[in-house]
Amino acid sequence: MRESGADPRPCLIDGVAVPTPDAIDVLDPSTGRLLDRVARGGAAEIDQAVTAARAAYAGWRGRSAESRAGVLRRTGELIRRDLDDLADLESHDTGKPLAQARADTGVAARYFEYYASVVEAFFGHTLPDLDGYLAWTRHEPYGVTGHIIPWNYPLQIGARTMAPALAVGNCLVVKPAEEAPLSVLRIGELALEAGLPPGVLNVVPGLGAEAGAALAAHPGIDHLSFIGSVPVGEEVAAAAARNIVPVALELGGKSPHVVLPDADLDLVVPTVVRALLQNAGQTCSAGSRLLVHAEVHEELMGRLEAALAAVRIGPGPADLDLGPLISARQLARVTGMVEAAAGTAGPRIGGPGRVPTPAEGFFFPPTVFDRVDPAAEIAREEVFGPVLATSVFKDADEAVALANGTAYGLIAAVWTTDLDTAHHLVAELRAGQVYVNAYGAGGGVELPFGGFGKSGYGREKGFEALAEMCQTKTVVMRVPPRGGGPR
Ligand code: NAD
Repeated sequence: MRESGADPRPCLIDGVAVPTPDAIDVLDPSTGRLLDRVARGGAAEIDQAVTAARAAYAGWRGRSAESRAGVLRRTGELIRRDLDDLADLESHDTGKPLAQARADTGVAARYFEYYASVVEAFFGHTLPDLDGYLAWTRHEPYGVTGHIIPWNYPLQIGARTMAPALAVGNCLVVKPAEEAPLSVLRIGELALEAGLPPGVLNVVPGLGAEAGAALAAHPGIDHLSFIGSVPVGEEVAAAAARNIVPVALELGGKSPHVVLPDADLDLVVPTVVRALLQNAGQTCSAGSRLLVHAEVHEELMGRLEAALAAVRIGPGPADLDLGPLISARQLARVTGMVEAAAGTAGPRIGGPGRVPTPAEGFFFPPTVFDRVDPAAEIAREEVFGPVLATSVFKDADEAVALANGTAYGLIAAVWTTDLDTAHHLVAELRAGQVYVNAYGAGGGVELPFGGFGKSGYGREKGFEALAEMCQTKTVVMRVPPRGGGPR
């Protein structure tokens, strides 16, 4: 926490601090009290940032991949140098338990390191056997790219979208979320310290409807990356369409675990609990649906109840199992959805009023609804809280129908020891990532990630993110016909 009365943290444009007349209060979700204040950037600051990025573009793009990679690698080193401070900042800013914030910080460093490495092996194709012509492809950066970031994993998602864009030679304008902007501003500062030229990475904190909308609509932006909710994704995509620029949308999910009767429940239970509690369920890929075969349903529910009874709830920096939600608004949203779902029966495990939570801050307890109606809101819509909806199935076909029964398709998990069943479900599940006897894989830096259906389009992470941040240029050169000999 900074001293009260300190100036709001400014925008970072063209390598210098740019204050704004108004500021945004940033609250600590674990206490509900003021944590810091940041600049409230708007259309003017976005315009200034786009101009700075455009001016920096020729120089950054003109560098060798090796030279750009050096700056990225150094940024990763500086993130690791400051890991304790960054993790502490992220834990206060988002409310996530400190161990999760530390893991996020390590993953953020890894994005810079990974893209520093792979960009040097990212090359085009030579097209074979064209009589009289030689043809090849080049990956070229878009130019100035816009990045709109959510509050749930600012460090991790910030690094995930920034690092590949920078690696291939784009210059960036980044708009962090108003609820948790602090760590993205720090990454901007660390990248400058690492030697990134001024203007290559500009960070403009501000409100979604102001700075976010101005960035999405700016005619000087050549590619947009948006990570956030479906309704705002629609608006950003519409703005991009008006400027005829591509957009990558990473939106929400309602990701299922599919548990077959032969699953190893010793593995299932802790993984389901972790996937439910991580970041208080405010994870786009949260495992928020549990689809269980009738044969193992009661046993699994009993084990889940025992595991959730042991969950310790408290402020992020206290580093327990479950921290608060991000804001009073998010708490009201989760409470409203749970009340609407409760009906007469209420949740089977946990739930508000039954599990004590700290009096201060925006806490919500783990809550499990059992045998939900697949048509109900709680079974179809993203809650973005520690809330699980379970359904029972009789065979693999019914499991697939349930799993694919929402508009989303971000990730899914299959729990079985039978290889044939696993292969069948992997092919049938509608999701951008499918795990077998696992859920998530650390940060998954190397694993292409993105949605089917309303979870969005475009891919982040892995090699595919480099392609996402580039456009292909095909080059054709006339050469002497084969057999014609030297001229
Ligand atoms: P949000 O859509 O409200 O906000 C995301 C970002 O968009 C913020 O920076 C916000 O300021 C900005 N924004 C808001 N209104 C805007 C507008 N009109 N124009 C341009 N920008 C605008 O989402 P959120 O509440 O911050 O995050 C929660 C949602 O994000 C969930 O639905 C979650 O699933 C999704 N999410 C998806 C992924 C993924 O990778 N698929 C990752 C994290 C979060």
